[in-house]
This record gives sequence, C-alpha cells and structure tokens, in this order.
Amino acid sequence: MSFSLELSDDQLALKELAHDFSKNEIRPVAAHHDETGEYPWEVIKKAHALGLMNTHIPEAQGGLALSNFEGLLIAEELAWGCTGIGTALEANGLAQAPVILGGTEALKDKYLAPQTETPSMCAYAVTEPGAGSDVQGMKTTAVRKGDKYVLNGSKMWITNAGVADWYFVVALTDPDKKARGGMTAFIVERGWDGVIVGKKEDNMGQRASDTRGLTFENVEVPAENIVGSEGDGWKLAMGAFDHTRPSVAMASVGLARAAMEHAAEYAMERKTFGVPIAAHQSIAFMIAEMAMNIEAGRMLCWKSGALKDAGKRNTMEAAMAKAFCADMAMKVATDAVQVFGGYGFNKEYPVEKLMRDAKIFQIYEGTSQIQRLIISKELFVRNR
Ligand SMILES: Cc1cc2nc3c(=O)[nH]c(=O)nc-3n(C[C@H](O)[C@H](O)[C@H](O)COP(=O)(O)OP(=O)(O)OC[C@H]3O[C@@H](n4cnc5c(N)ncnc54)[C@H](O)[C@@H]3O)c2cc1C
Repeated sequence: MSFSLELSDDQLALKELAHDFSKNEIRPVAAHHDETGEYPWEVIKKAHALGLMNTHIPEAQGGLALSNFEGLLIAEELAWGCTGIGTALEANGLAQAPVILGGTEALKDKYLAPQTETPSMCAYAVTEPGAGSDVQGMKTTAVRKGDKYVLNGSKMWITNAGVADWYFVVALTDPDKKARGGMTAFIVERGWDGVIVGKKEDNMGQRASDTRGLTFENVEVPAENIVGSEGDGWKLAMGAFDHTRPSVAMASVGLARAAMEHAAEYAMERKTFGVPIAAHQSIAFMIAEMAMNIEAGRMLCWKSGALKDAGKRNTMEAAMAKAFCADMAMKVATDAVQVFGGYGFNKEYPVEKLMRDAKIFQIYEGTSQIQRLIISKELFVRNR
C-alpha cells in the first residue's frame, strides 16, 4: 500500500478558502489590531459566515464536525494572516473541546448549538495566578449546596475572557484530594452574578487577542452545568489538549511560513556589496533552514492530527508538534528580523510583529518545557 500526503479536492478547496480569507480579510487589518489591541469582531463575523470557525462542533448540534486534520489546514492559513486574530478565532475550539469530549447532549445543545448559528465566543479558564504549568496547584473551589455549586477563586490569562458568553472552568470540588480526582469542570456564563472580568492585558504580541483575568465571587452554578461527572475536571482539561495542540502548533507553522516568505522576498531585493543579500550564502542558508524546519513542523502537526482522527493516542505527538513548532517559529521569526537588518527592527516592516507574536507559542497551551516533560513521560510509559 502506498503512502500519500496528497490533499483531496475538498481539503484543497478548504485550504484555499481559508487562505483567500486570510489574505483578503485578515492581513489588511492585522497591523491595525496589533497597534490598537481592538478585538477583531468584524473579521470574526465574516469567518463565521464562511464556516471557518467552530469547525469541530458535532453535526447533532448543527456543526460541520470537521476532522482534526481539516482543522489544521484552516489553522495554518489563518495564522499566516495574523496569529493574534487567528488566536481570537481559534480559542473557541479550546473551550469547546472538553465539552465535545465529556458534555451531555443537553449541555452541547445549550452551549454549542447556538455558536453554529451566530458568531459568539467562549473561553477555556483553567490557569490561575499561582497555577499555570502546575495545574494541580489551583485554588478555585466549587462547593456543593443542594442542586448548585458555589464557585470562588480567580483565573488568569484567559483568552477571549472579555468577549466570551461562557467559560469552561475547572475548580476543586474535593480540596482534600487536592490533585486530579478532586477537580471538576463546569460551564459558567459570563452574565451570572459574581463573575468579574478583569482588564484587558497589555501583551507583547498577538495583541488582537483578548486576554484577561477572571474572579468568581460566590457564583452559583447549577449542577447540570458540570461537564462530565464530578472529578472529571483534570481528565477533560488535559484531554482537550490532544485535540487542540496540533492546531496551535500548526498556527506557529503559519506564522513561520509568513516570516520566511517576507525574508525570502526581501533577500532577493535588498542589495549589499553589489548583489542581492540572497546571494550571500549565510543569508541563503538561513532561509533554507527556515524552509526545512517549516516542512518538518507541518509534518509533525499533520501526524498528530491524523492520529487523533484515527482514534489513536496522540499525547506525545501533539506535545512534539507543539514544542517543535513553537520553538521553530520563534527562531524563524527572529532570523527573519536578522535578514531584514535594521529594517527588521522597525514597525514599518512586517517581521518585528511576527517575532513578538511568535513568543507566546512557547508559553500558552503548555510551555515548551512542559511539552518536553510530557514527551519524556509518554516515552518512558511506552518503553516500559
Ligand atoms: C497570552 C496568553 C494567553 C493564555 N490563554 C490561556 C487560556 O485561554 N486559558 C488558560 O487556562 N490559560 C491561558 N494561558 C495561560 C498559559 O497556559 C500559562 O501562562 C502557561 O501554562 C504557563 O504558566 P505560568 O504562566 O504560570 O508559568 P509557570 O508555570 O510559572 O512557569 C514559569 C517558567 O517555569 C517553567 N516551568 C514550570 N514548571 C516546570 C517544570 N516542571 N519543568 C520545567 N520547567 C518548568 C515554565 O516552562 C516557564 O518557563 C495564557 C497565557 C498567556 C500569556
């Protein structure tokens, strides 16, 4: 049997749709949103109308139920346009993933189905001021009172927190157990009493994306808003990453591709010592390295997504894709600035934004260090 990396006609059409959207709707406004930090609602409305958002919502809830792999084709193209806007668009997927994994049909009907009809946002709220990599250090509690839970605590660095209608929140329901089995996941609506949304954070990059803290003060959550069962919080919060890390990694590939294209174009135009700088081997090889690593990164993403679609465990491959592509995008964007010389350091040229935007890929959805921890743990388990 042969092995093929050929995309089907439908997949090619999807990629082209996302690329054209990115070129015509995202790129022209990327600098504006980077400068102002304004949330890209107009882009979101258009992306929603074209079916480029919420693509993994099941058909039963009116969604497209696209495969993980097909989602990757879209993610690369949107990120090629701007990863700040791309993150704003794609963050819904992270909040939806654990609900798709473990939510009841009633919960999916109530919270996912409306998102297929009108553009609306949701957010994944797990990180806390004192618990990022160390999720088990969380302090937010949810105490059962009759048919409700009372939620108290704070979340930090939550993408889309200021614009989301609802949050996927993990809290301790059994603080004595402290760790995994003591965590429960809930859907919490932004409009409920006691939900306090913090100020928009002034971030280094991906500035179109809305990042905020959240505080919960005696928020009453109906028991039917538990995702899965009591004690499933850890499993669902971490399980979601096997679905979303390939896509976040793919977004780093999109950014790196944009940086490489800018660098290659500039290298052929800019002359020093009477020749285009592309004729200097150190510049040409820097761009060759970019191309090599972008291809390698794309293959890791595709493999981790394809494994998920085949119903196989992809935790290690998703972590490999996330770590490799994040580190690769940071290096490619930094080298693109180098290719541009002094112009690379200036906001009039496109690559300094890419360098600022790239950094967050090494931090969110698990830092590059934590991905290596996951890879090594998975390796030891597989080799036992
Ligand atoms: C812009 C932005 C958007 C985000 N969006 C979301 C979101 O939507 N939802 C959400 O829940 N969270 C979100 N996060 C949070 C993000 O996932 C965390 O910031 C990240 O997991 C790191 O946690 P931390 O910031 O607490 O750093 P820490 O965990 O304090 O880590 C600090 C440093 O120590 C290293 N480190 C920590 N532990 C280890 C270890 N065991 N071994 C080796 N090195 C280690 C880390 O790699 C890092 O370099 C977002 C963050 C940002 C900045």
